[in-house]
Amino acid sequence: MNRTPGDRQALRARLEWLRLLGVEELPSIAREGSPAQASPGDAEAAPAGPPVKPVVQTGLFAGFEEMDGGGASRPGRRSRGGGPPVSPLTGVRAPEAPDAATALGMIRGEIGDCTRCGLCGGRTNIVFGVGNPDARLMFVGEGPGADEDLKGEPFVGRAGQLLTKIIESMGLQRGDVYIANVVKCRPPENRTPLPDEIGTCSPFLFQQIRAIRPRVVVCLGTPAAQTLLGTRETITRLRGAFHDLEGVRVMPTFHPAYLLRNPAAKREVWDDMKKVMVELKAAG
Ligand code: URA
Repeated sequence: MNRTPGDRQALRARLEWLRLLGVEELPSIAREGSPAQASPGDAEAAPAGPPVKPVVQTGLFAGFEEMDGGGASRPGRRSRGGGPPVSPLTGVRAPEAPDAATALGMIRGEIGDCTRCGLCGGRTNIVFGVGNPDARLMFVGEGPGADEDLKGEPFVGRAGQLLTKIIESMGLQRGDVYIANVVKCRPPENRTPLPDEIGTCSPFLFQQIRAIRPRVVVCLGTPAAQTLLGTRETITRLRGAFHDLEGVRVMPTFHPAYLLRNPAAKREVWDDMKKVMVELKAAG
């Protein structure tokens, strides 16, 4: 088959997109079709980390404590390892993978003015995600609420303010981490996203995680945990232990909106965040 320069450009763009999705090798006969979608890894309990330092109460975030003198280490750039592969057929080295910020921009571009599911009809803004593209810690919620829909930014309402306090109690700033949701458009009446809405939108979340490659993802609430871990277990069973998603440590915990209704559960969330801080510290 004769390929035109336009064909080659389209093929190059498709290959670049596949690389962005984490596909390092293609079978000898590449198939036409949609890009590979991430498949959630199985949940797998990890051993508990070493004991953490005693903590002191903070007035800002009643029920949570602040790390005594420090908190988790700050995010920094990390190596993406190895360098691009050389094609055994052509001897040509594949282009460098885009940096995380560029990759996130490409994913946002791919979403476009999305009409892939019914949620598009009720939204004001697509709520893509916010924060440090090189974050070592990422938080994933369920879907935007009214405030987030208006502002186009995740976790800016009451639950979001509580999440910000949790982040600050960990010795971090909101801008240090990356925050996203399973679905990018507000479900009507803030209902839980439906399975088909999650199925349609969550591949973009998996792409965001692959672009950022954080050390730890904290899943806030049952839909986020079930989506990332590919399980039907509830948050009560899943929380408190690390699970694995393609080498990323996943800590499910209660959603801040649940904490607003059940402040006593802040204790458990704080226990989970202490494990996250230990993990981040151990990773350096
Ligand atoms: N709840 C979520 O799950 N996500 C948001 O962005 C806000 C509230």
